[in-house]
Amino acid sequence: MVTGILIGVIINHFFLPSYFIESILINQVLHTISSLFLILLKMIVLPLIFVSIISGIISINDVNTLGRLGIKTLTLYVFTTMLAITLALFISSFIDYNIETISLYNEIQNISPMNQNSNFILNIFPDNFFSALVDGNVIQVLSFAIFIGVSASYVKNEIPEFVGLINNLNKIFNKMVMIIISFTPIAVFSLLAKTFSTEGMDVFIPLIKYFSVVVLVLLLHFAFTYSLILKTFSSLSIQKFYSKLRALIIFTFSTSSSNASIPFTLNTIVNKYGVNKSFASFSIPLGATINMDGTAIMQGCATYFLAAYYGIDLVFSDFVLIILTATVASIGTAGIPSAGIIMLSLILTELGIPLEGITLLLGVDRLLDMMRTSVNVSGDTCISCVVAQSEKLIDVEKYNQ
Ligand code: ASP
Repeated sequence: MVTGILIGVIINHFFLPSYFIESILINQVLHTISSLFLILLKMIVLPLIFVSIISGIISINDVNTLGRLGIKTLTLYVFTTMLAITLALFISSFIDYNIETISLYNEIQNISPMNQNSNFILNIFPDNFFSALVDGNVIQVLSFAIFIGVSASYVKNEIPEFVGLINNLNKIFNKMVMIIISFTPIAVFSLLAKTFSTEGMDVFIPLIKYFSVVVLVLLLHFAFTYSLILKTFSSLSIQKFYSKLRALIIFTFSTSSSNASIPFTLNTIVNKYGVNKSFASFSIPLGATINMDGTAIMQGCATYFLAAYYGIDLVFSDFVLIILTATVASIGTAGIPSAGIIMLSLILTELGIPLEGITLLLGVDRLLDMMRTSVNVSGDTCISCVVAQSEKLIDVEKYNQ
């Protein structure tokens, strides 16, 4: 990131205008490298969420557990995610990013397929799964995947090959993401060098502002929303909840992955918070797959920031669209490093914001990923404790120890 910025600024100051630098170095070499990275990311999104949702649902041990407990947990997961994005958009709306907007993109507004058909419910389900796939309609692919996952859970024991196949595909796609993501430093370098050589220092301050806004909202959500949830839906001690989180936060901070943290989260919630083990082994993997408050916060702030960057005015209906899409996007985000920034492409596409913006954010995303993953996992822990208490599946004495 630093090298890219330095080289970009040097080119901007000392080497422009120059036909060779502009048309070959900036528009060919740097542009190709950063765009290739984006194309690869887009390529993997649909297959990744398709199998990760099916495999997540199948991994729930008992079909009946999917019933009441499932609905309660799911509702709270989705509720906190919506709160998170709303908070992100609310705080963002006070921020003046003060950017010289890129007017080129002014016309590309509201090309959202969701906006075109007013019936949101009907839009969730595909009448033709393959055309949903071809159109890249993530919501429809997701609903189909959930349906397959639930149906497969009922006959899980009769279809070990299918379960094995889905789990293996899940591993392969996750690995593909890791391989693509391993090129992040080169893509970040190219994009920043390209951006700073054409724009000069003007984009630096807004990027720092974006970073600070995300951190602020993550902290607010962590401190206030979870206290509020504990206070409203349970009688558990708020202070005990936070005081026992430290080791888990440090762990998730270093893995940047809700999935990789599952064993640690499970251990914490069972042994430190006293949550019943069989409930925890349902709610924690589910949360790691679908409950991503921190990710939703980043996605909300990033969408607002990039809309400002490209000079796109957001109206009220856009905010509603962002809340809905970011909820779906964060549900579809795999619990692995950097998955949230990949899924951001879904929201940007819905709003007609150029996907190029993602590479701009990548420069600061690594650090944000660590922080948001900690918030994601804290959310899973909080909701699991609350639902467990409502069903008397928690050892309150252990919780209070
Ligand atoms: N790294 C996050 C997680 O595993 C997902 C994301 O990239 O936002 O929870």
